[in-house]
Amino acid sequence: KEEFSRGALRTKTVEDILTSLKDCFMLPSTAVLDFNTMSEIMQSGYTRVPVYEDERSNIVEILYVKDLALVDPADCTPMSTITKFYNHPLHFVFNDTKLDAMLEEFKKGKSHLAIVQKVNNEGEGDPFYEVLGLVTLEDVIEEIIKSEILDE
Ligand code: ADP
Repeated sequence: KEEFSRGALRTKTVEDILTSLKDCFMLPSTAVLDFNTMSEIMQSGYTRVPVYEDERSNIVEILYVKDLALVDPADCTPMSTITKFYNHPLHFVFNDTKLDAMLEEFKKGKSHLAIVQKVNNEGEGDPFYEVLGLVTLEDVIEEIIKSEILDE
């Protein structure tokens, strides 16, 4: 545990390593789980797919590919039927969360994917939460491995 808290993990933040929103594979909550959508999900290769309402920055649900095990594409099941049934919790973190803290959060269980947001107080209007992207345990582990190698 001490080892993992060295260097980069103490200083780097989730913002440094996230997958930015524009690169995220996501689907709208209005999607229908027909053959095309299910093929698209399979071809993406991801195990979790954020689901948004109206705009990509508004993530409201998360679909796990394993949730599709009992879904027949011929039924054209609405996305929301499945996401509401499984109702996986969304896990939000702030952009300035350090990687060692993020690792501890992931270790507590729940999900191994977090949505990164920041307080945007630039511009005229009231401050608002802006979603920057997502970070997973895999991203943090990648940093651990990198820093272990550099430390040697
Ligand atoms: P998976 O289990 O889907 O392969 P991992 O947690 O192993 O996901 O993460 C692998 C990489 O893919 C990480 O860089 C992570 O940020 C990114 N990632 C995970 N889910 C998505 C997604 N839906 N869209 C884009 N990138 C993703």
